Amino acid sequence: MSANDFQKCVDFHGHVCPGLVIGYRAAKAGIEWLREKRAEDEELVAIVETDACGADAIQVLTGCTFGKGNFIYKDHGKHVYTLAGRKSRQGVRVALKPGVMELKERHRQLIEKIRDEKATEGERKEFWDLHRQKSADILEMPLEEIFLIETVKPQMPAKARMESSKPCSGCGEPTMASKLGSIQGKDICRDCAAKHQI
Ligand SMILES: [Zn+2]
Ligand SMILES: [Zn+2]
Repeated sequence: MSANDFQKCVDFHGHVCPGLVIGYRAAKAGIEWLREKRAEDEELVAIVETDACGADAIQVLTGCTFGKGNFIYKDHGKHVYTLAGRKSRQGVRVALKPGVMELKERHRQLIEKIRDEKATEGERKEFWDLHRQKSADILEMPLEEIFLIETVKPQMPAKARMESSKPCSGCGEPTMASKLGSIQGKDICRDCAAKHQI
């Protein structure tokens, strides 16, 4: 891994933030673990339990992506990242420890102000200074203070299949046949089915 790996993550994500640094350090730790176990030769699967900033670093560093079907999102709202070989299921679970992402009171105040659109220019600048500082702190922390790292054998998702599409009877849009439901004998996509219910 090269020295500008972190910069690649920043370029992809668009800014430096503590969440991105967590994802970056988790990916590095996971990849290092797999290398030691020689599981890196087979196709990697990444399972992320958050859709926040950190997930972007995982995609950049592992090369696992949504489109390839080897990047799995679980909506758990946790900084937990699992990397595993698809065949051996030999894997590593990297979970954020409590307290690491805790922010100073002023930092939290500023986040609220920005969320409520009440922050001044100066306060925005102050927020980004604190955000960058927190990011730099996490970048320097010893790994074992950030994460709990465990060996796991996760269930592997089915490989993405090539599948033909059929038009939805509601909107007419071509839809993977296995994703169409049936309403009154008609093939209906999930989007149309949800609107139907309202
Ligand atoms: Zn971010
Ligand atoms: Zn439809």
